[in-house]
Amino acid sequence: MSEKVLSYEEAAALVAKSAAKLLRVPRAIERVPLARAADRVLARPLRADRDQPPFARSTRDGFACRAAEASTHAPLKITGATRAGAAPSGPVDHGAAWEIMTGAPVPRGADAVVMVEHVEATGDFVRLLPPRKIEVGENIVARAAQARKGEALLPAGTPIGAAQVALAATCGAAAVEVFRKPRVAILATGDELVPVNKSPAPGQIRNSNAPMLAAMVAAHGGEPWVLPIAADTAKALDAALATILDPAAQADLLLITGGVSAGKFDLVEPALARSGARFRFTGVRIQPGKPSVFCEIPARKAGSARRPTTRLQNQNGTKCYCFGLPGNPVSSAVTFLLFAAPVLRALAGSREAEPRFALARLAADVKAKPGLTRFLPAACTFTGPVPEVALVSWQGSGDIAAMARANCFLVVPENADRIDAGETVRILLA
Ligand code: AMP
Ligand code: MG
Repeated sequence: MSEKVLSYEEAAALVAKSAAKLLRVPRAIERVPLARAADRVLARPLRADRDQPPFARSTRDGFACRAAEASTHAPLKITGATRAGAAPSGPVDHGAAWEIMTGAPVPRGADAVVMVEHVEATGDFVRLLPPRKIEVGENIVARAAQARKGEALLPAGTPIGAAQVALAATCGAAAVEVFRKPRVAILATGDELVPVNKSPAPGQIRNSNAPMLAAMVAAHGGEPWVLPIAADTAKALDAALATILDPAAQADLLLITGGVSAGKFDLVEPALARSGARFRFTGVRIQPGKPSVFCEIPARKAGSARRPTTRLQNQNGTKCYCFGLPGNPVSSAVTFLLFAAPVLRALAGSREAEPRFALARLAADVKAKPGLTRFLPAACTFTGPVPEVALVSWQGSGDIAAMARANCFLVVPENADRIDAGETVRILLA
């Protein structure tokens, strides 16, 4: 099999291109109550069901009046009052002002609201204190200033968070249409692995990657489907792949951990090749995570073990995307974030598919061997004026405890042999 080893930038670009292509594929939609819409992805534009705001609204407690009259500093007669919840009213006569509360519809005739802090009230009269002047429209949000009825406020593909829930509520959307979550098969491979509820015999370790990836998949908008551990045999891998790629299983994405290095028992790549995979890369010059594999497996006809078809089987229509992630837990986590997560988010319909990097100030010198782009477990603190990041001490890519003490990964560029404390560095956010 021919190797396709890419630089980090090449691999990232390839993944980004696949993700962009995926966003154009039509996908299944479901309707969920607004209370369950957070962390989903909007499948149709969210439209304003009425003008927003629906009436000219006061943003202050004060007096609704005419700006030109108030600015003369002549006393204005208080002839009415209105508050939030009151129907739009008026008119305000010339030379008069109405008492008004934040959120109330501005009465007809008034074109500004003077703040209660800026006036002097005596008996039934109120006047703007000199030398202050007021402009037309001050302390008022005009009707439809934020949106006109029917206008799209958010496009399809917007990830739904608290602010989008608030906007949907404002638009009267008690339920919203979201994309169906992509189904993500998670297959841990390795003869040494036992599930978390079994006692490991000498030489055995617990399968921590599957639960970790299930958590990551859920966090990035997928529906995890964790399979039983597969042994390091061609037969076991073929059987697991047959289960996952069965059209009835409707897997959109497959994550396999372990078995992708060059070792004698690393049988995943040949098994993927037997299932018809088209390899996009079989290695990336990064550390950890160098042996990562990205491939596409054409969909199968129901009942056929081999023959590809174009029948619509899953969210993506024709193929199952697949990542082979190196078994070391830190490698699995890093390569998931860098490569699998963008494809997963695109499968979920999100327009925010790309990995999230941020800048931080490096707290202590870092030395590195050039030649590979490194993503090292690090802890970023946000207590100072700028985010500050430091490596956590670690024993290599099997060190789950180090990863659990970290909250990001420090990016060391391919050609760097050191980065000095105080420099601005990139971090990969989880
Ligand atoms: P591999 O990529 O299969 O060569 O595995 C690399 C290292 O990761 C080995 O030390 C494995 O024991 C370990 N490993 C592989 N799969 C898992 C897993 N699911 N959970 C925890 N560690 C694993
Ligand atoms: Mg292995």
